[in-house]
Amino acid sequence: MNTENTTMPVLFLGHGNPMNAIEKNTFTEGFRKAAEGIPRPKSILCISAHWETSGTYLTAMQKPRTIHDFGGFPEELYKVQYPAPGNPELAAEAKGLVTRTRAELDTDWGLDHGCWSVIKHMYPDADVPVIQMSLDYGKKPDFHYELGGELASLRKKGVLIIGSGNLVHNLRMVNWRRLGENFGYDWALEASEKMKKYILEGNHKELINFRSQGEAFDLAIPTAEHFLPLLYVLALKEKNESIEIFNDEPVGGSLTMTSVLVS
Ligand code: ZN
Repeated sequence: MNTENTTMPVLFLGHGNPMNAIEKNTFTEGFRKAAEGIPRPKSILCISAHWETSGTYLTAMQKPRTIHDFGGFPEELYKVQYPAPGNPELAAEAKGLVTRTRAELDTDWGLDHGCWSVIKHMYPDADVPVIQMSLDYGKKPDFHYELGGELASLRKKGVLIIGSGNLVHNLRMVNWRRLGENFGYDWALEASEKMKKYILEGNHKELINFRSQGEAFDLAIPTAEHFLPLLYVLALKEKNESIEIFNDEPVGGSLTMTSVLVS
């Protein structure tokens, strides 16, 4: 598909268990199909739950390394390499768009599993350049929302912006013995339904104010990093665009894989 003069869609992807990187299941099928249904991007800018920094950084290396930022998984998973090239020019361009803070270029990070474990299913040949933007852990939710909005013009230049996290993500309460099952605790389902309602209604304010949504949200979002990438994605939605929700399943009781396509 020709990407000239088109506005690229925006994606929030629930990445879940790192093992999804090497498994084939309904979720990885969802990632694959999402890529199939949109124009092929010239580059990807990914905001991952797994890169938190003091300040905002953009990866600017030619060849980002594959980071295995998890512990206790089978050897096979540590052997995975996702050698997508970087795009230092795009990193510089994105840095120039940011006025909300002083963004910096980074040459140390690479691609963490929040990015490569999902992008691998979308573009298995690793032939689309990928850069990452970090999450500044010192900033409030409205900062992240506004920062996301500043990237809007990249969508018209063939850049696919992906937020990678999980809407409901409470690792401490995961039922590890039932991790393979698509079930959710009552509070997880309650939070998930409310989040989807707000997403579909375009009620971004309530999502930015996720800390005022009561107990179910507090359990679903014990720490903000897996939820915040959603705010970047929603901030990029234009008024005439629609929302499609996919991979909408709970996992292990206290996680959801719910993913969002804005197009
Ligand atoms: Zn994660």
